Amino acid sequence: CGVFGIYAPDEDVAKLTYFGLYALQHRGQESAGIATFLGDTVHLYKDMGLVSQVFNESVLSELPGTIGVGHTRYSTTGSSRRVNAQPAVVDTRLGKLALAHNGNLVNTVKLRDELVKDSINLVTTTDSEMIAYAIAQEVGAGLDWLDGAIKAFHRCEGAFSLVVGTPVGIMGVRDPNGIRPLVIGTIGSNPVRYVLSSETCGLDIIGADYLRDVEPGEVVWITEAGLASYHWSKKPQRKLCVFEMIYFARPDSLMHNETLYSYRMRLGRRLAIESPVEADIVFGVPDSGIPAAIGYSQESGVKYAEGLIKNRYVGRTFIQPTQAMRESGIKMKLNPLKDVLVGKRVIIIDDSIVRGTTSRKLVKALRDAGAIEVHMRISSPPVTHPCFYGIDTDTQDQLIAARFSVEEIRKQLQVDSLAYLSWEGMLEETQEDTNSFCSACFTGDYPVAIPEQVKRTKLV
Ligand code: 5GP
Ligand code: SF4
Ligand code: MG
Repeated sequence: CGVFGIYAPDEDVAKLTYFGLYALQHRGQESAGIATFLGDTVHLYKDMGLVSQVFNESVLSELPGTIGVGHTRYSTTGSSRRVNAQPAVVDTRLGKLALAHNGNLVNTVKLRDELVKDSINLVTTTDSEMIAYAIAQEVGAGLDWLDGAIKAFHRCEGAFSLVVGTPVGIMGVRDPNGIRPLVIGTIGSNPVRYVLSSETCGLDIIGADYLRDVEPGEVVWITEAGLASYHWSKKPQRKLCVFEMIYFARPDSLMHNETLYSYRMRLGRRLAIESPVEADIVFGVPDSGIPAAIGYSQESGVKYAEGLIKNRYVGRTFIQPTQAMRESGIKMKLNPLKDVLVGKRVIIIDDSIVRGTTSRKLVKALRDAGAIEVHMRISSPPVTHPCFYGIDTDTQDQLIAARFSVEEIRKQLQVDSLAYLSWEGMLEETQEDTNSFCSACFTGDYPVAIPEQVKRTKLV
């Protein structure tokens, strides 16, 4: 999911939140929502669909306020339904709160019990709503916004980057492992106002300047008085999701003070060193494989050429293709360039293989277009374990690398050679401490323990 927040009494916060969400669209395409606060009143609009489908000028003009909270949803817990769209708005002793969550909690069974015991009626099926009610519970017991929220954060286990709007200010929070990203930006001067966004691309689009990341186990409380920071967790550690780095986040977003484009290019260089192969051209699967393919070409000297063209207008396909189209291996999204491919030995690079369905179709399409050898290189290691922290990599039995060896996968994909980047390569190229990432989907080493009953839901 993508989350966004802004405290800016002098600006059109609904519009700025809209643009922020627009830049974070890649983080979730199921639903979008914006809540604004004007004093004690909350204005909320959310619906299924893309940001541009949900909002228009007239809807935004009905969202007045000084504080904005926004969300784009990609469902991991809770079904894909309108009631599950965010922000979640709940009543508290101190007024309403609006919460936008990115991540996934692993202790929802316990949390749900604690809430239901208190006769709280959960409206949705999401873990995010539970966090909102947990804050309401603590505030209801007499705590102020910040202390109440911190007490509620201590009850949550798993991944949560949150933006919490209240009538007096917004909070930006990361879980003690900082699994999902969240950054702080500034806008304007005299006084400086603050913006929160899942990624820096959400700041760029509104002309805000990147200030810094919210730290793991930190909450920033942004009010009329400015920005205050509290380190609420006794045991914070850096465990940023490495999948954000290799695939999920936008290539123009900054992580560790460089764009992910640069990191992904280095992954390609490393891949060329680890797994060279003789070929005529190299290209990436648009868009996610392109930076690594450029790096691979630079390091290996194999000519870079585009072999696949992506239709930029294919998003979520609401209209299902016909059976005939499906059987012929529809090329709605990616079409091979025959002139470039015919008679060539090609290297195709993608960021990851999850189920293997994309790769299988692509390889067939490349051969049909005339490629004489197809070598596949993947700029991350084999995905062998499901994610419980908010990236939907399916149940374990659906992960091709959980069931088959690299050689078996090579045969299934019908490629002449197949190589994945090493785990060390992926982490060393971050140029950060290699312990400061979650890489559980490649290793099964989960930084936050997964309860047995939750593990079973993904067949681990
Ligand atoms: P698959 O191997 O399952 O057919 O898909 C792999 C492709 O999907 C890669 O091109 C990668 O960019 C993309 N991908 C990687 N991880 C995920 C994920 O968690 N969810 C979705 N929807 N796509 C993913
Ligand atoms: Fe990211 Fe994988 Fe960890 Fe999930 S398990 S948070 S996808 S690195
Ligand atoms: Mg891709």
